[in-house]
Amino acid sequence: MSAIQNKLFIGGKFVDAKDGATIAVHNPHDNSLITHVAEAKAADVDAAVDAAERAFPLWSGMAAAERGKLLLKLADRIEAEADALAQLEAIDTGHPIRDAKNIDVLRTAACYRYFGGMADKFQGSVIPVDAGFINYVQRAPIGVVGQIVPWNFPLMFTSWKLGPALAAGNTVVMKPSEITPLSTLRIAELMAEIGFPEGVVNIVIGYGHTAGQHLAEHPKVGKISFTGSTETGRRIVEASKGNLKRVQLELGGKGANIVFDDANLIAAVNGSAWAIFHNQGQACIAGSRLIIHEKVADEFLERFVKLASSIRLGNPLDPETEMGPLTSTLHRDRVLSYVDIAQQQGATILTGGKAPSNPDLSKGCYIEPTVVRAKPTDRVSQEEVFGPFVSVTTFKDDAEALQIANMTEYGLGGGLWTRDLSRAHKMAREIRAGMVWVNSYKRVNPGSPFGGVGQSGYGREMGFEAMHDYTEAKSVWVNVDAQILPHFKR
Ligand code: NDP
Repeated sequence: MSAIQNKLFIGGKFVDAKDGATIAVHNPHDNSLITHVAEAKAADVDAAVDAAERAFPLWSGMAAAERGKLLLKLADRIEAEADALAQLEAIDTGHPIRDAKNIDVLRTAACYRYFGGMADKFQGSVIPVDAGFINYVQRAPIGVVGQIVPWNFPLMFTSWKLGPALAAGNTVVMKPSEITPLSTLRIAELMAEIGFPEGVVNIVIGYGHTAGQHLAEHPKVGKISFTGSTETGRRIVEASKGNLKRVQLELGGKGANIVFDDANLIAAVNGSAWAIFHNQGQACIAGSRLIIHEKVADEFLERFVKLASSIRLGNPLDPETEMGPLTSTLHRDRVLSYVDIAQQQGATILTGGKAPSNPDLSKGCYIEPTVVRAKPTDRVSQEEVFGPFVSVTTFKDDAEALQIANMTEYGLGGGLWTRDLSRAHKMAREIRAGMVWVNSYKRVNPGSPFGGVGQSGYGREMGFEAMHDYTEAKSVWVNVDAQILPHFKR
């Protein structure tokens, strides 16, 4: 692996923080130190916003196809160094290397490629208005946008935010999570090499309550795109009100995953394990609530618990590893605290609920895949645990399944397993969520809008929806016949 970049990226240059402050970055496999990264505070964020503001006329004025070409080159470079990027993501986040390589890196390249292609295909429109007039609507970029990225999928989420923002002609100040900033800095290095003009993308690593808060409040920032907890999302809305900046929020979830009695049980067991245990359950769309028809519950759970307890935990760099550590000690402890919470409310731990006994993993942030039988009203069925932790409940009929599915404050993703086509469409219509998967779970694609309703946030990432969210409609009226209008005609 080449030397790990650990500075801020401002105005096309890698720089130390103005006050020289740094933050330690650890490998969650054994909590060893990887590096110290520069820590941005308000003055560094100001410098990044100024650089983005200076770059805006050039970038927004460039032919859309030229912007697209740079994004396409970036996608190619990411694929060319898939191994190194996957390794960096694995040591920084704990993602198993096979997922980092086959999912994170590939999806990241696909996202930049999609928006690279989109840049010169996202069109305005011409509206039929009064005789003698043409009215056309342009999609204009917003200006400087702020983007705040969490620690669970840093490489991929960076592409979800940068891709559409840049394709649309905005310039960006991004604050990655200080826990997992390394792959984002590598992307910045690639951008500099490829020839993105300086200041188009600026990376300020820092803490949420300082750098993040300052970015969200900044009067020169026209939009904030935030992914993280619902609680912090509310803070972002509050911070954004000074200049009425646009806000897009991708927040928590408590994905309902419903297994009907006519489901292909083998497929449902496999898919449900993927839904919750991929990335150690640290996903906003995780299927963290299993809602199973009582007729098939025993058979399903027997198979599911067996599968969960057979998942191979280990060093993320081992290609055999299926589940790595959680991303930080703090977060591991938070997830484990939900085991006590579950038991206090009378839930039963069917498997897991503790750190693995393997001494090779004792220094890391590992938790065994955990399956808990709980009531739908229990805290573990209502709150986002954000770990390899699934709560299980049963239902008698479709109406009850739907009632349980819709009884949390969240509305991000949900899934259902059935062979009945009519039931599938009806349920997909009735589940309160931004995304529903039928006989699958957690599928994403850069063309398909991603986001939620309720306390899961608003606005969408990906697809044409994201391009809309990163642009303003500008309506232009042309008096083609040069008519002198009647109002004050003399
Ligand atoms: P946060 O929402 O606190 O953090 C997400 C990002 O926002 C980080 O970059 C963070 O920086 C930043 N941030 C924090 N406070 C502010 C602020 N006042 N202004 C601007 N930016 C801010 O999530 P946590 O990391 O604390 O995780 C807690 C829980 O949130 C998880 O257990 C999970 O339930 C949920 N979560 C959901 C995610 C999703 O994908 N929807 C992603 C991450 C978390 P910093 O790291 O310095 O705090």
